[in-house]
Amino acid sequence: MKKRIPVIAGNWKMNMTVQQGVELVNGIFYGLRFVKDVDVIIAPPFTSLYKISEVLRDTYISVAAQNLHWEDKGAFTGEISPSFIKDVGASYVIIGHSERRQYFGETDETVNKKIRAALQHGLTPIFCVGETLSERESNQYHQILSAQIHGGLVGLSAVEVEHIIVAYEPVWAIGTGVTASTQQAEEAHLMIRNLLAQNFGAYIADEVRILYGGSVNAKNAKELLSSENIDGALVGGASLKADDFIQIIKAAT
Ligand code: PEP
Repeated sequence: MKKRIPVIAGNWKMNMTVQQGVELVNGIFYGLRFVKDVDVIIAPPFTSLYKISEVLRDTYISVAAQNLHWEDKGAFTGEISPSFIKDVGASYVIIGHSERRQYFGETDETVNKKIRAALQHGLTPIFCVGETLSERESNQYHQILSAQIHGGLVGLSAVEVEHIIVAYEPVWAIGTGVTASTQQAEEAHLMIRNLLAQNFGAYIADEVRILYGGSVNAKNAKELLSSENIDGALVGGASLKADDFIQIIKAAT
């Protein structure tokens, strides 16, 4: 029996209108009525964050934003601050997703600012790291993961890091249908846990939940989630269908 409570987080990305989102969370909620001992998180787009938070208020399902800006308010057209995210009822935020690093110029430095801002406002960051296919094929992925972990967490205290969730998401597995093997994922998770232990102490490293993300589905979830250092999943495509997402949550219990 694992001591860390598993987390299953659904990243809807740029999908779901408000109405579609409400229908989806209602389906998930009713399908899950008797599931216990797993933290379930839904990350809708900003446009439905308020509505989905209202629908899920007083349930055991939590809500996450998919991004934030590190400033609290001001002249930052198009950005959303941590306090606004809290204001609409979300308690988590995904930070440093590979799509944001790839298409929106996020760097380890901006990821670090975002993680700090989230923590200051009492939001739990879901901090994403992961290597590209060429970085894996050229055997550089240890260095890449190490640089992302160091860069993202630099300057944080051990107590702060204890409140973070890390998501290992190999870029080559996201949205491709190609999942990392359980062995590949376990090796990367163990490496991340060892990096956390070196920098913040063994006790903290043992507490932090490390999720796997990359083409998790109802079929492969059970095996991945049974691995020692895999404490849950960040799910993209399969979180858009209630039945699939429920199966993945059940696989974590
Ligand atoms: C993701 O976007 O974080 C993700 C893991 O996507 P998918 O499950 O579709 O690969």
